[in-house]
Amino acid sequence: MKKVYGIDLDGVTFRFKRGLGLHIEDVLGIPFREEEITHYYWHECVDGLSKEDFNRCFHEFGEGGGYRDLDPLPGSIEGIKKILAEGHEVRFITSRPKYAYRDTVECLVEHGLDTNTYLHFAEGDKSVYIKRYNVDVFIDDSPYTIPEIVSNTRAQIYCMDHLFNRHLDDNDDEWFRRVYNWDEFLKEEGINV
Ligand SMILES: [Mg+2]
Repeated sequence: MKKVYGIDLDGVTFRFKRGLGLHIEDVLGIPFREEEITHYYWHECVDGLSKEDFNRCFHEFGEGGGYRDLDPLPGSIEGIKKILAEGHEVRFITSRPKYAYRDTVECLVEHGLDTNTYLHFAEGDKSVYIKRYNVDVFIDDSPYTIPEIVSNTRAQIYCMDHLFNRHLDDNDDEWFRRVYNWDEFLKEEGINV
């Protein structure tokens, strides 16, 4: 059966955390330590990083072409191509700022994902897009987005594991499936890996 897959970009398809972390390290001299990123808003958990600096670096990084050159998460590009090869539809639904649109398209072109996929820059709640395009399966990593789309849609939701979303497991209900990498996600979905 053909399914519609909704896929988040940062933290699911691309290694945004590393990209921004190295930028902050460059600009502010605060070393990037992935194990320190236990909160979605880094200034809540990174020593010496103020909210103002975090927000400024976030936009500087994006406006300076940061989204153009992010590395993919291991297996993400190949995984998306496998989903497409099995006849499913893929829609990227991202909360990136609007100014990232061109860099995002160029990056998808470079990875060969431009012609067979759809790209949506969500404003606010991703549920609207999930319902509008009848998305069957959605994978995200944001601890804010996941509860929202679980409550507001009937899609099967997956959470790509990051330290900053682990606390979602404190809720005992079977409300999303946590996966630790792309192989695991594809196996759960019965996509040939
Ligand atoms: Mg994300």
